[in-house]
Amino acid sequence: MSALSFRNVWVEYGGQVVLERINLEIASGTFLSVVGPSGAGKSTFLRLILGQERPSIGRVLLDGAPFPAEPGPDRGIVFQRYSVFPHLTVLGNVLLGYELESERLTARLFGASRRAAIEKSLALIEAVGLGEHRDKYPSALSGGMQQRLAIAQALAKRPRVLLLDEPFGALDPGTRAQMHALIKPLWRDLKMTVVMVTHDIKEAFGLATRLITLDRARRDPQAPERFGAKVTYDLDLTRNVSVPILGFRQAAAASENKTGVL
Ligand code: ADP
Repeated sequence: MSALSFRNVWVEYGGQVVLERINLEIASGTFLSVVGPSGAGKSTFLRLILGQERPSIGRVLLDGAPFPAEPGPDRGIVFQRYSVFPHLTVLGNVLLGYELESERLTARLFGASRRAAIEKSLALIEAVGLGEHRDKYPSALSGGMQQRLAIAQALAKRPRVLLLDEPFGALDPGTRAQMHALIKPLWRDLKMTVVMVTHDIKEAFGLATRLITLDRARRDPQAPERFGAKVTYDLDLTRNVSVPILGFRQAAAASENKTGVL
């Protein structure tokens, strides 16, 4: 489990302020949902955690220490579009996660360590419900199955933080509900810190223990690039939430009704 800290973080591209004055302490084991309008900087926020982006000002810390200079296996990411390797089977894809985690240079394991990695991969494949499909290639899997595989692959690297970038956005509602039912127990069992960007408010409330909104609090019509997005709401969903903002109260109520399913 790992804690994340944002200390007075600003991101600017050229003259455009994208994020301003982000101060957050995200406790280890949190399931954080990040919502906000398009262009508010949600992907930028994720890229900061991934290490693909550096703050223009301020610091992002993992367990109190600055991130290494490059994205590492301590942060796994699942994108909306499937990011699995088409030329590898289900087992091959997950196994590669283990190989990359332990053998950074060669990405190959041999003998007993390979057998152990295969066993762990098979357990993970079973956990995401793909046991019967271990020898199939991604082209033979449905969208939901490919997304399960992407999650298993990300988890194989044993990330300290799992980043989900609209991971279920491309799935139909039924498959999406199945993915919700999958991810919540995985998060609990593996005791991960999860940061999920989503457009789906119901999903955001249904899965998370904490929810933040990123939005521009100030606008200058003459110079739209002048102000960036800030954290405009920060909700602890482990408490009984009643949120007095349009749309959110209903979403909270809807997700409460759904907790049995999620
Ligand atoms: P969201 O994920 O909330 O839709 P993004 O983080 O993708 O928002 O983008 C926020 C803003 O930052 C947008 O105005 C986008 O054009 C700008 N932006 C994102 N990445 C870059 C980049 N690499 N260079 C310049 N501008 C960027």
